[in-house]
Amino acid sequence: MRLSDSGKLIPYEALWEWVGSRKAFATEIVARRIEIPFPSLPTPKTLLLPQREALYRFSWRERRWHVTPLPPPEEEVLLFAAPCEVRAVVDVLDEVFLRSSPEDSYYAERRRNLILGVVGCTFFEATCFCTRVGGHPLSWEGGNFFLLPFLEGVYTEGVDVAGRSLTPLEKEELKRIEENLERQAPPPLPPGTPELLYGAFEKELWEEVAWRCLNCGACTFLCPTCFCFDLALEGRLQGAMIRTWDSCMFPKFTLHASSHNPRPHRTQRVRQRVLHKFSYFPLRKGKFGCVGCGRCVEICPVNWDIREAVERMISCAL
Ligand code: SF4
Ligand code: SF4
Repeated sequence: MRLSDSGKLIPYEALWEWVGSRKAFATEIVARRIEIPFPSLPTPKTLLLPQREALYRFSWRERRWHVTPLPPPEEEVLLFAAPCEVRAVVDVLDEVFLRSSPEDSYYAERRRNLILGVVGCTFFEATCFCTRVGGHPLSWEGGNFFLLPFLEGVYTEGVDVAGRSLTPLEKEELKRIEENLERQAPPPLPPGTPELLYGAFEKELWEEVAWRCLNCGACTFLCPTCFCFDLALEGRLQGAMIRTWDSCMFPKFTLHASSHNPRPHRTQRVRQRVLHKFSYFPLRKGKFGCVGCGRCVEICPVNWDIREAVERMISCAL
C-alpha cells in the first residue's frame, strides 16, 4: 500500500481554516477536483517563472547607466498541485533553475517561499500518463504535505490540523482506490526509451508524426515543465529588462542574427520538443522532461498527441 493509512481525515472547512489568510493558490487540475476558496493558476510554472516579468530597470542619468534590480517580493505562498505538477517543479524546473549553475536568483527566491501541498488523484483522466514516465497519482515526493479528496472530507498526511483516524471501513475504501489506480495505470515506457529515440533522430517518420501540428505553441505554454524564455530590453535611455516565456514551436525561436535558422521546418521543431523531453533531458539528468500531466494533449487545437508521437517513434526505432 502506497499511503500509510496512518493519515487523518479532516473536513474541508478545517483545511481552509488552516490556510487562513495565507496567500494560497491551486492549479487548475486541482481546482477541477475540489472546490477551493482561493484563485487557481494554470500550472506551478506560472507562479515560479511568470509569463512576463521585469528583472531590472535601467536609466541613463548624469552620464552613466543606473541599474535597479527588481527581485520578487519575499512572501510565503501555498500552492495545491497534483503529483505530476509537483514533479515538474522538483525534477525539471528546480534542476534547470536551482541545481544548474548559476542559480536563477528570481526563481530561487520564489521557490524558497513556496509550500507545496500535493493533492493526490483518485482516478486517471483520459489524457493522464504519469505512470508512463515514472510518476504515480498518489506520490507526494517533493511536496510538503499530502491531501486526497476522500468521502466527505480530505485524507491528509503531514498537515498540522487536528483530525480523526480512519475507521477499518475507511481504510478498506482507501485500499480500494489504490487498487483501482494500479489497475488503470498506463505501464512505464520501455527501458532504454531515451537511447532508442535518440537513435531515431534521422527517421523519415518524423514528417508523418509532425504534419498536423500548427506550431501554435499552446502546448508549451501550458506544459508545467517547458521552461524556455526570452529576454528583451524595453526602452532606450530608460526602461526594463523583460523576461517572457518563449516556445521551441515558434519558427523564430532559433533564428540567428545572421538570418540562419537551424530549425526552419515544423518537423524539426516537433522533433526537438519530443526529443528534449524524452531523450536529451533524461540522458543528461536521468529523469524524463515530461511528467505525463496530459495538459498538452488536452489543449492542442488539432488533437496532436505527444503519447502517440513517442510510441510511434519508439516502434520505428526498435
Ligand atoms: S502540438 Fe498542438 S498545441 Fe502544440 S504547437 Fe502543435 S498544434 Fe499547437
Ligand atoms: S504531458 Fe505534455 S504538458 Fe504535460 S509535462 Fe508532458 S509534454 Fe508537458
